[in-house]
Amino acid sequence: MAKERLYLFDTTLRDGAQTNGVDFTLADKLAIADMLADLGIDYVEGGYPGANPTDTEFFAVDHGLKTKFTAFGMTRRPGRSLSNDPGVAALLAAKADAICFVAKSWDYHVRVALETTEDENIASIRDSVRAARAKGREVLLDCEHFFDGYKANPVFALACAKAAYDEGARWVVLCDTNGGTLPHEVEKIVGEVVKVIPGDHIGIHAHNDTEQAVANSFAAVRAGARQIQGTLNGLGERCGNANLVSIIPTLKLKAEYAGAFDIGVSDAQLKKLSQVSHALDERLNRPSNRYSPYVGENAFGTKAGIHASAIAKEPATYEHVEPELVGNKRKVLVSEQAGKSNVLAELERIGIKADKDDPRIGRLLEIVKERETIGYAYEAADASFDLLARRTLGSVPNYFDVAQFDVSVEQRINAVGERVTVTLAVVKVKVGDDNLISAAEGNGPVNALDQALRKDLGKYQKYIEGLSLTDYRVRILNGGTEAVTRVLIESEDEHGDRWTTIGVSANIIDASFQALMDSIIYKLMKSGAPA
Ligand SMILES: [Zn+2]
Repeated sequence: MAKERLYLFDTTLRDGAQTNGVDFTLADKLAIADMLADLGIDYVEGGYPGANPTDTEFFAVDHGLKTKFTAFGMTRRPGRSLSNDPGVAALLAAKADAICFVAKSWDYHVRVALETTEDENIASIRDSVRAARAKGREVLLDCEHFFDGYKANPVFALACAKAAYDEGARWVVLCDTNGGTLPHEVEKIVGEVVKVIPGDHIGIHAHNDTEQAVANSFAAVRAGARQIQGTLNGLGERCGNANLVSIIPTLKLKAEYAGAFDIGVSDAQLKKLSQVSHALDERLNRPSNRYSPYVGENAFGTKAGIHASAIAKEPATYEHVEPELVGNKRKVLVSEQAGKSNVLAELERIGIKADKDDPRIGRLLEIVKERETIGYAYEAADASFDLLARRTLGSVPNYFDVAQFDVSVEQRINAVGERVTVTLAVVKVKVGDDNLISAAEGNGPVNALDQALRKDLGKYQKYIEGLSLTDYRVRILNGGTEAVTRVLIESEDEHGDRWTTIGVSANIIDASFQALMDSIIYKLMKSGAPA
């Protein structure tokens, strides 16, 4: 039986741009649009031309994207003629393949927010769709607050949707703008709508305010909708939009959907999904959510030893899909519960050859267990585990020794009468036969120590030039007087590779020093610095 086509519409650059703290530049928008097109997304909504300079500029030229590039804006304002509406004019002038209008479909909003009549609202939908069709554009109508509107006044909500369809809109998109509708309600209401408008002209736009935006999208599809709108990583205001990164693999890999629908994302494109998701976070300069379904670092991570040995034998025993299909990888966590099989699997993953009967493997497991009882967490610190393993197996060179370090923090009143805190670190390092001393100021003790450590490593300096610290996290364990401090440091190098190192001590400077040292030594090994 031929499969039905289901379409994906991405609004990361429009609705996703409403996220607190997200501010896309023109270059960001272009790069993300390209990435979405490469992923096989059918429609990419670029923004709201006329509403802000970035979006106006974005739509001023044809970018030749391999997707239906879509402009978003409001329908004709009530009480105005089309020719007298600059918003609609900007939309019609935009270099876009499709235009997505947004209109009210809740009678309450029409009265209170628009202060107009139901008839004028419907006339505005008709005029706007007709004008965009006359310009040769594919047209979509977002019915704002459709589900709340339908519950309040189904006749009016449906009349808004039907007006757009009758005027030739390719898609009528039902929006759960406030995000409070539940999946069974979505399924029921969409089921009513498709009796009036064919499902292959119906889209769903769900917000995540009850954490069911993805479920609501699937509920709409089950009821007949054939377009899903969403964003990368569920970006969007408040709790976000439906997450396409979760929706796409479910459509591709779950039999109920894979057997019924074709989407624009090929199997090869699906393999890029993890990378696309992480690339968006990189661009937003925020850490990726390690718990994200399908693409998170932990999505295929397993902890207990008994599971790890089963996974080594037959991965399907503990995995709902194969991680490679979405470009992710299996991760076996080294943890307190770790068995030998965990350690062996992890060693294999980081490329260390080991024989399972090698007594040093048992020794490594002992060390990991001992250290985890005092607060180390190697599953969060891949590079420190790598070093620990190589050290236990005897393959980490002794590049340099830190003979001594000294950190001082001074608070005083400066010459112009301001209270300032000055931090200075001095580090004595022995590299081969050279004794080196470096001093550096920093905005805090850890920063000063880091600066001083990396200022002069003699003949090794050139190997660590590209190293930078990207994140620093501190956690106090146990509490009270027994407290120890766990420091996790995330580093990055000139190739964009990232790794995490760990330090644990009663003293925060000491803990930070351990993590800093691990990061530098890891980088030296990675760069192939000679011993
Ligand atoms: Zn929205």
